[in-house]
Formats: sequence, structure tokens, C-alpha cells
Amino acid sequence: MTKKLLVVGAHSADYVWRAGGTIAKVAEQGGQVLNLALSYGERGESGELWKENPNRSVDEVKKLRHEMSEEASAILGCEFKCLDWGDYPMIVTEERVAQLADIIRDFAPNVIITHTKEDPFNPDHPLAYQVVEKARQLSAGAGVAAAFARINPPVWYSFEPHQPELSGFVPDTFIDITSVFEKKIAAMACMRAQEYLKSYYTELGSRRGNHARRISGKQQVKYAECFKSNVPVILDTIVPDMHF
Ligand SMILES: [Zn+2]
Repeated sequence: MTKKLLVVGAHSADYVWRAGGTIAKVAEQGGQVLNLALSYGERGESGELWKENPNRSVDEVKKLRHEMSEEASAILGCEFKCLDWGDYPMIVTEERVAQLADIIRDFAPNVIITHTKEDPFNPDHPLAYQVVEKARQLSAGAGVAAAFARINPPVWYSFEPHQPELSGFVPDTFIDITSVFEKKIAAMACMRAQEYLKSYYTELGSRRGNHARRISGKQQVKYAECFKSNVPVILDTIVPDMHF
């Protein structure tokens, strides 16, 4: 059975900074990744595009953001979809929760990654967390037999927010992305609307790699991304990797 990862970002470029390497790694290992954006971030996260040409229409900005995310997703090896819910503010209706629950049920991911519960700098990011929380529960029927189609509850992580300490983010899981870091850099370069984040997230990958080396003793880890699990992780054994 192919392992599946669903990444849900509030805006169409959020995934690339925070989980681009992890996506590329899953794809390289033969997994299937659906990279889902709830909106294009056309108002709040497209500053450079508006600066470049203030007369652009919203539709034109959305189209450019779509092209950038498709290009970056092709580099990382995942499928990109955008629900185009609008941003700043994003409005989440019950219909939209049901729409996301259907997508989760149909795709049946083993793992979901999304934003953190808190983010004092971005109103859409915690909203994405909330809608994923609810849709995940609805798609999985809370883990018991129910009178509707349901999937097994996917493992669920939050990726690292831009200001981790102020968002209450304490990572408990690090992914070694050294082997795919060049792909992450190439994917980040596609996001012309947020050029300023590329060097920041390259530096962060290196810093998280340092932490991962210290924690694990694995000297080969040069770059890492980190996550926080939102539900307990269930393992087959307390010693999961004997070949460390
Ligand atoms: Zn965002």
C-alpha cells in the first residue's frame, strides 16, 4: 500500500518553507503527497507581486500564485490543489469543513501536516488548524465504527510557524531533509512573491539540522525540518529503528 501524506496550508506557498523537504523525502521514498492550499494568499502573502504591478487584478495574482505552486510542487514531486477560499480573512463555513472532510476521506492519508493552533501574526493560519482538526475528526468518525464512510484517523502534525516561540511551538519530531535540500531550495526559488523568505528558511534548515544532530548523534544530518505532533504517535515497538 502506498503511503500517503496530505499537507494543508492556509495559503498556496506555506508548504514550501515549512514542509518542502519533508514532502520531497516522502515522494522520493515512493509515497504519494497531496499538497492542498485553502487559498492562494492573494491578498496577504503576495506583496512582491502587488509591488511589481499595483494594477494587477486579484485573478491575475491568483493565476501567478497557482503557477508558482505548481512549478514548486513538480520539483518536490507532489500534486498541488487549491480550494480558493480567499484570504485575509479566510471564511470557513460548515460547507467548507464538509468539503475538506470529503477530500480527506477520499485521499485517506496516513499523515496530515498543517499549521499550528496559535499564530499571533496571521489570522488565517490558526483557522487552517481548526478546519483541519474538525475535518480530520469528521473523516475518521473519531476512530469508531460509524454509520458513514470513514477512514482510519491520520497521524497529525503541525509544521513550524514563522515565529515558533510566539506561536507556542515546541517541536517533538525532526525530519532529516539533507538528501533533498537542493530540491527544497529550487522549490523555494519558484515563490517569487515571497523572495525574502528563501534565505531565512535555508538558514533555518541548517539550524534545525544542527539540533537534529545534537539530539540523535547522527552526524550525517545537515538540514532538517521540525514538527509538533497533535495526537499521540502509535508505534509497533518502543525500539522502532534498530539500525540507527
Ligand atoms: Zn500563510
